[in-house]
Amino acid sequence: MNEKELKELICDIGRRMYTNGFVAANDGNITVKVNESEYLTTPTGISKGYLRPEMITKVNEKGEVLEGEYKPSSEVKVHLRVYAEREDAGAVVHAHPPYATTFAVAHMPLDSYILPEAVYGLGAVPVVPYAQPSTQALADGLIPYLQDYDAFVLENHGTVTIGQDLIKAYYKTETLEYNAKITYMIKLLGVSHELPREEIEKLLISSKKNNPGGRHPGYVKYDR
Ligand SMILES: [Zn+2]
Repeated sequence: MNEKELKELICDIGRRMYTNGFVAANDGNITVKVNESEYLTTPTGISKGYLRPEMITKVNEKGEVLEGEYKPSSEVKVHLRVYAEREDAGAVVHAHPPYATTFAVAHMPLDSYILPEAVYGLGAVPVVPYAQPSTQALADGLIPYLQDYDAFVLENHGTVTIGQDLIKAYYKTETLEYNAKITYMIKLLGVSHELPREEIEKLLISSKKNNPGGRHPGYVKYDR
């Protein structure tokens, strides 16, 4: 995919995030790695529902602007920390999807294995301790979790997902939010059944075999 196509895809994913209610107003941000020293980022202060390709800014690994009229996202340092720690990361999505953010505010990890798709594609999702948005502290807070997970809930804030490409990173946000929604609703019912251990094991083996790349907490016991 060339840079023009990548910028169009960022706008498309931004619209999906906004339409799905994963971000309010100007919240959320998206970055894509072009190469080791060039990253495309959404601009600060613009709704993800109204992005145009010319608004996408290119920065280097230090967050300095290389190309573009618009100021980069204030959270770009969090994204750049992910790329620095994870050479397999090709894209990062940050959003505030309401159900996952509810768990973030409750400081509750999403660690019940209840849906096959979530076990297969995501695994348990940890809670990253609170740090003020747009700070280096928020970026540094992710470090202990980065080697074992691709999806995170940030205390009292929102979500971060990582993928080898933008579609994969965004789909992890969708899967995370859907899993959070179902987890929330079964708590209202007051009854829940986790998948049996042997079924979880089968899903993890199948996931590892068919979907190499990225990180998944369930893979820890297998070779990476
Ligand atoms: Zn945020």
